[in-house]
Amino acid sequence: MTTTEQTSADTTAASEPVTASSFDVRLTDTPTSDADREAALVAPKFGTVFSDHMARITWTSVDGWHDRRVEKYGPLQIDPATAVLHYGQEIFEGLKAYRHADGSVWTFRPEANARRFARSARRLALPELPVDDFVASVEAVVRTDAAWVPAGEETSLYLRPFMYASEAFLGVRPSLEAEYLVIASPVGPYFAGGVKPVSIWVTRDYSRAGAGGTGAAKCGGNYASSLLPQQEAYDKGCEQVCFLDAATGTVLEELGGMNVFVVRADGSVETPELTGSILEGVTRSSILQLLTDRGHEISERRILLAELLDGLADGSVTEVFACGTAAVVTPIGRLAGDAFDVTIGGGQPGAVTTAVRDELTDIQYGRADDRHGWMHRLV
Ligand SMILES: *Cc1c(COP(=O)(O)O)cnc(C)c1O
Repeated sequence: MTTTEQTSADTTAASEPVTASSFDVRLTDTPTSDADREAALVAPKFGTVFSDHMARITWTSVDGWHDRRVEKYGPLQIDPATAVLHYGQEIFEGLKAYRHADGSVWTFRPEANARRFARSARRLALPELPVDDFVASVEAVVRTDAAWVPAGEETSLYLRPFMYASEAFLGVRPSLEAEYLVIASPVGPYFAGGVKPVSIWVTRDYSRAGAGGTGAAKCGGNYASSLLPQQEAYDKGCEQVCFLDAATGTVLEELGGMNVFVVRADGSVETPELTGSILEGVTRSSILQLLTDRGHEISERRILLAELLDGLADGSVTEVFACGTAAVVTPIGRLAGDAFDVTIGGGQPGAVTTAVRDELTDIQYGRADDRHGWMHRLV
């Protein structure tokens, strides 16, 4: 969909573009004190601290998207029959607001998240939120809670847009009502004390997604089904789980919430092609661009696990890394499964992994030229 398209039932006059000022800001009467906020911004644990406000838009099949507002962050009161609690009709996004050295606040490629959110909505039979609404909602909440964007190195305000089926109805059909919200959570550096390679368990027992399923949509259900395999990874002494394709169990797909890349000794870089069961990461596509700019030969293709293990054994594969908004780029230092256990790079992040991580974070934090026009100013 284009950025200006509206759902047919949208009551917003088509001539009036949605912007941050379309949101009615209803400030909390119990704001966090400056001292308490400053304390909360010191080394916050991921996803545990939230800012004072949230952005919100309501949808009904009759009125379309309406009642754009920023309101006090707080509990939602929902009917026990609310559809999402029973059938999991829910989608989400994840992006960050970064404070630059001059105090300005920016986000990274929000339109890409907005378009993916609309694709996820379509797959989950939820109403598609127009791109302008998504971007404006992010602007509205970050402008209201700008003081919650931390300034420390590699800190950010993590933004979590999400939508759920809010109709109180137990019949199995798409909900006629939906709520869209954006909550904001200050986060510290993912790797406190320096980037450290993670260990990965390649599961044979479980799949994340299959052909025709919801693998390409960012929906809570995909995460629900990844939790038991993630537990299996912990039990095997690994930090994260990696999934293979559901049909043959031989093709590399992705981690529970991150895409994967393979770097070869000749400098070429590979990542699993988008088959419909892999989530198309914004970080993934940005890294493909940065590696192309750096002169690496890139291929998006079917990567067999056996081929990867052979490459690691004979030295033709030198680095493996995972990527996503939360951790940016994470070196993979160990790959283990039922019949193998391989160490990669001697516990140190590889040169390509480090270079691409540094370049991406330099752009995000305003330390490097934004030559692709990826940054979007919020404050
Ligand atoms: C969100 C997500 C990613 C990473 O996407 P980014 O846009 O880079 O944050 C990768 N895989 C899965 C399954 C995800 O849910």
